[in-house]
Amino acid sequence: MDRYAVIGNPIAHSKSPQIHTAFARQTGQALQYEALLAPLDGFTRTVEDFRAAGGRGANVTVPFKLEAFALSTRRTPRARAAGAVNTLAFDGDEVLGDNTDGAGLVRDLLINLGHTVAGRRVLLLGAGGATRGAILPLLHAGPAELRIANRSADKAEALAADFAAEAGKARLEGGSFAALADRKFDLVINATSASLAGERLPLPRGLYAEGALAYDMMYGRSHTPFMCAALADGAARVADGLGMLVEQAAESFALWRGVRPDTAPVRAALRRQIDAG
Ligand code: NDP
Repeated sequence: MDRYAVIGNPIAHSKSPQIHTAFARQTGQALQYEALLAPLDGFTRTVEDFRAAGGRGANVTVPFKLEAFALSTRRTPRARAAGAVNTLAFDGDEVLGDNTDGAGLVRDLLINLGHTVAGRRVLLLGAGGATRGAILPLLHAGPAELRIANRSADKAEALAADFAAEAGKARLEGGSFAALADRKFDLVINATSASLAGERLPLPRGLYAEGALAYDMMYGRSHTPFMCAALADGAARVADGLGMLVEQAAESFALWRGVRPDTAPVRAALRRQIDAG
């Protein structure tokens, strides 16, 4: 049986084995998918051991996405744009590095949530790896404006400058949270890790245009602090990042196996499981 794995540290919490096992069952693919804990100083060795044991591909999660990028012998354009790799495919001596996070986000927004990005004003909060991975797929969806805002404003400005050549017709800018005062957006995406610590972002009030969606990349049993604050500030809809998690996995699965699974039943099962605690 073909072997795949998710590699991270920590890894026990990962839902990837469950998601990929469900995809395999649904599509009739004979594969085995496991979680591998790599020592913090042992990512490359873990990958090499897994390849030597017949591994065909791997997902990579915190804190190894930059090391996975460095280890790849070939990278997809979206992995190069993200500067990070969450999906490895092994073929002989070649290690292909891809990044499916941003594509997963955009599929969740456009297809699962039915939210239009084309021609709309989009605000992306944060300037870390998740933001970097989301910028190119979001720009490809054709927003009128993509604004990046971060606690450390210089990082948001630098990201906007990095992607200026890819902006097309979109107005692409970066800056501070405070500079968002008096601005309105149709879609606000939280790609900071503030919700992980249960913290609220210091955002000015009145950010949400009519019908706006507030999307938190984090997910959980109840609304995150960002989602609660967005509803209080007038967001019409909120969503968490569970759909993104399942969609990025489906992108990886499609890359490895050439088949795209139906994500809806897998997402629904995970949601039930999370709600049940
Ligand atoms: P990074 O560590 O690379 O970046 C963290 C970002 O959050 C930085 O911009 C940082 O700002 C900001 N930040 C952290 N704490 C605060 C705070 N208290 N107030 C304001 N800003 C803060 O993380 P990632 O980009 O890798 O991940 C970000 C989030 O996205 C995580 O919650 C992660 O779980 C989620 N994610 C979800 C995925 C999914 O499939 N659903 C996939 C990938 C990520 P500064 O630069 O000023 O330090």
